[in-house]
Amino acid sequence: MNLEPTHPTGKGSSDWFTGDVYVDSIATRKPEPSRMAVSRVRFAPGAHTAWHSHAQGQTLHITEGIALVGTRDGTVIRAVPGQTVYTPPGEEHWHGATTDLFMEHLAMLEDGDGPEPTTVWLEHLSDADYAAANQHAANEPAAD
Ligand code: MN
Repeated sequence: MNLEPTHPTGKGSSDWFTGDVYVDSIATRKPEPSRMAVSRVRFAPGAHTAWHSHAQGQTLHITEGIALVGTRDGTVIRAVPGQTVYTPPGEEHWHGATTDLFMEHLAMLEDGDGPEPTTVWLEHLSDADYAAANQHAANEPAAD
């Protein structure tokens, strides 16, 4: 066994994120056939990803705040610490904080095959869609 090296916290690129997002790598990909990659991602209030999809899907485990996770059909899941959200391979989605709280989640995924990128980044989420997601989520009963 070995104690894994720690990595400096990275700042999420403004190409892919709106607002202040910080990423800590927890597990980096190991030699084949391993494909696992795990990061802790911290979003300042109001911060969120652009639209994107993951070749092999993604599991998000919420550890702080309230996570909003939205898909193209307008569905927004509101998830609290201890809950886990899964997006299947290729499903376009976004995730982020609410406007008033920091949010932290663990993001777990597997690298895709060959030249296919693990994550395909698309356009930024519109301000209107983000506002609607917050409004919608605020009207939902708290998750159990
Ligand atoms: Mn994602």
